[in-house]
Amino acid sequence: MALIVQKYGGTSVGDVERMKNVARRALLAQRAGHDVVLVVSAMSGETNRLLKLVGQITDRPSEREQDVVVATGEQVSIGLVSIAIHAQGGKATSFLGHQCRIVTDSTFSKARIKHIDGERLTDVLKQGHIAVVAGFQGVDQAGNLTTLGRGGSDTTAVAIAAALEADACEIYTDVDGVYTTDPNIAPRARKLERISYEEMLELASLGAKVLQIRSVEFAMKYKVPLWVKSSFSDDPGTLVCEEDKAMEDLVVSGVALDRNEAQISIRDVPDRPGVAAKIFGALDEKAIVVDLIVQNPPKDGKTDLTFTVGKADLTKARDVVLGLSAELGTGAVSAEQDIAKVSIVGVGMRNHSGVAARMFRTLFKEGVNITAISTSEIRVSCVIPSRYAELAVRALHTEFGLDAVQA
Ligand code: ADP
Ligand code: ASP
Ligand code: MG
Repeated sequence: MALIVQKYGGTSVGDVERMKNVARRALLAQRAGHDVVLVVSAMSGETNRLLKLVGQITDRPSEREQDVVVATGEQVSIGLVSIAIHAQGGKATSFLGHQCRIVTDSTFSKARIKHIDGERLTDVLKQGHIAVVAGFQGVDQAGNLTTLGRGGSDTTAVAIAAALEADACEIYTDVDGVYTTDPNIAPRARKLERISYEEMLELASLGAKVLQIRSVEFAMKYKVPLWVKSSFSDDPGTLVCEEDKAMEDLVVSGVALDRNEAQISIRDVPDRPGVAAKIFGALDEKAIVVDLIVQNPPKDGKTDLTFTVGKADLTKARDVVLGLSAELGTGAVSAEQDIAKVSIVGVGMRNHSGVAARMFRTLFKEGVNITAISTSEIRVSCVIPSRYAELAVRALHTEFGLDAVQA
């Protein structure tokens, strides 16, 4: 007998029929002798709908109140899924984040889980219930509702699996597992049987939204065996696990595309110590995560500075920079939304050289201009105009030998 955490994403609970399917799958696992905790997302499209309502009032809402609004999506799902389990003869109890003490910090809209009090969940499991937990939400020390950022239900699931020392955490979604690239973009994408935590961490942080990055961090830290599976098939899926020798033979194991970043450029930034510290310090104070940073060589004591942030943070980031612009004596500040970041990832890069050059050559052959580059030991990322995004993904997928063999 094992303890299994199963998480079902938005499409998997997209309508009542699909919720009945989730109930059926959870009951099958329970009838096979396991304790089952379900974590569910809002019905697909619901979180976007709620955010849009907020956006119709203002583009600078109180983040506390915005969380109060968007956290409602998951409440509907846990109630309906619990009722579906009852209707199939099972026992289930639903929990909102605060009811099972998912305690987070107070960073509204991207809160971090600090602690989970698993007792409420284990109590109902002991009574033969399936515990049905709302993903994506928590409560801070002061009792305010918080949410964990887009895709946050994945993190709820893995954090619960870690807290309860579950035997497995299964993320059920609308694809069969983790692919070499987004299968909805590249029809030749191949499903991976296994992928290392580290590669998955890079892919997730680079925009492969199949798993939220924090969920992979948690899984890696607490060694949670993490499966990605389809809620619509019986495919074994992909296991995210520790790296091994076989994984190093491949130079590149995945290509990722991120369309959720935007770029801010500041012209004529005075080239003196402390300026970068001031700008990025102010962005950090507002909890704005900055990704790529490019600074041009200085000319006449001035330089141009370009960086990327999440699209959702663009207005906030531009406000911060404009607020400092006069004080620092910079030139014009501009924002660009039509960019995409394409990346290649693989632990094999550690012992193969020339991988970045091969990537640049491939993009050049396709006529794609690169505006910023960043690398890590197992990754190379390029910022390109968004209209070339899908072309770039397909070209890199082919270049690095990832295309599935066509039947
Ligand atoms: P859910 O609503 O179940 O959480 P998401 O939409 O958040 O599902 O994540 C699943 C989606 O992730 C897939 O439909 C696919 O388009 C996308 N995706 C991006 N990169 C990958 C990848 N490398 N492997 C699998 N899916 C990917
Ligand atoms: N409902 C939230 C979202 O759409 C959380 C999740 O689905 O993981 O981002
Ligand atoms: Mg998701």
